[in-house]
Amino acid sequence: MKALQYTRIGSHPEVVEIATPSPGPGQVLLKVTAAGVCHSDEYVMGLSEEEYTAAGYPLPLTLGHEGAGIVAEIGEGVEHVAVGDAVAVYGPWGCGRCHNCAQGKENYCTNAAAEGIKPPGLGAPGSMAEYMIVDSARHLVPLGDLDPVENVSLTDAGLTPYHAIKTSLPKLRAGSTAVVIGTGGLGHVAIQILRAVSAATVIALDITEEKLALAAEVGAHHTVLSDADAAAKIRELTGGRGADAVFDFVGAEPTIATAVAAAATDADVTIVGIGGGTAHVGFGTIAFDAAVRIPYWGSRSELVEVLDLARTGQVGVEVQRYTLDQGAEAYEALAAGTVRGRAVIVP
Ligand code: NAD
Ligand code: ZN
Ligand code: ZN
Repeated sequence: MKALQYTRIGSHPEVVEIATPSPGPGQVLLKVTAAGVCHSDEYVMGLSEEEYTAAGYPLPLTLGHEGAGIVAEIGEGVEHVAVGDAVAVYGPWGCGRCHNCAQGKENYCTNAAAEGIKPPGLGAPGSMAEYMIVDSARHLVPLGDLDPVENVSLTDAGLTPYHAIKTSLPKLRAGSTAVVIGTGGLGHVAIQILRAVSAATVIALDITEEKLALAAEVGAHHTVLSDADAAAKIRELTGGRGADAVFDFVGAEPTIATAVAAAATDADVTIVGIGGGTAHVGFGTIAFDAAVRIPYWGSRSELVEVLDLARTGQVGVEVQRYTLDQGAEAYEALAAGTVRGRAVIVP
């Protein structure tokens, strides 16, 4: 089968021919219907050899941690999943036994590192291939009638912001303000989730007019260019109060500085982006009682909830389609900042 792999440090991903895997006991083989292109892959492929090895990533690495497919074959002992089922892959695989996994929060599994359990596309072979192995039926969620290409990115670009926003919901009462920094793959879905689940006024920040136009189209009340004046503009738009929740989908030094400076008293500053920045907070440098959070992905039940938001038409992903052979092009477009919404590979 064809697979899009990262084969050498510093190289572009390439399409290679590899053996089609077969499912072992407890495993499920999917015929992949869609695979989303995330900025985190860009981050992984930007690591130096030392960092890459230290993080435990293998070479070659079949990319793709947003996946959807049709069950093609089931391994021995697999129950409640049948050949032909349309499914989405819950990506943050855990052990299934620890305290966090027992709550469905496999994204915070405390055994994954010790047991070498890694998400597909971020260690285990990912979804950018004609077929993929899912290690357990527990990591599949029924897609039902949802179109796989339109919805595959809800497994990360939907789930990650949903988890981040849900935690801050008590702060997003009527009259509140939420800020979304970076309106790309995750950010443009975050705006829709905020509009669907909260009464907050949504202010979106990005660096180009095109991205801000998409932000307004998907529901942002205000758009602001992300520059050194952005926090002051957010204060202006909120009558001096600042934002009750800021979600930073960039996570670089300047965006974190904006997020911290824009926070109202008692706000949540949530840094989702892995842009290498650090929050500098101490007495007098952030509003009183503001909290800084660093979430990772989301729980299985939250994925079910995000898919339900899509089913009721409240959340949708702006998708740009690529074939597996065009995989490297999709990553180039992402790096160049020219993807509108999410690039999705359709094998
Ligand atoms: P993306 O490239 O689709 O979107 C990023 C957006 O940020 C783009 O629209 C870009 O124009 C904008 N941007 C860049 N610099 C900016 C600035 N200074 N101010 C405002 N906007 C700016 O990326 P994505 O796939 O949506 O991922 C977003 C970030 O979240 C990445 O860092 C990714 O690695 C990270 N991520 C984290 C998690 C997690 O669990 N914590 C999960 C998925 C992705
Ligand atoms: Zn991702
Ligand atoms: Zn666990």
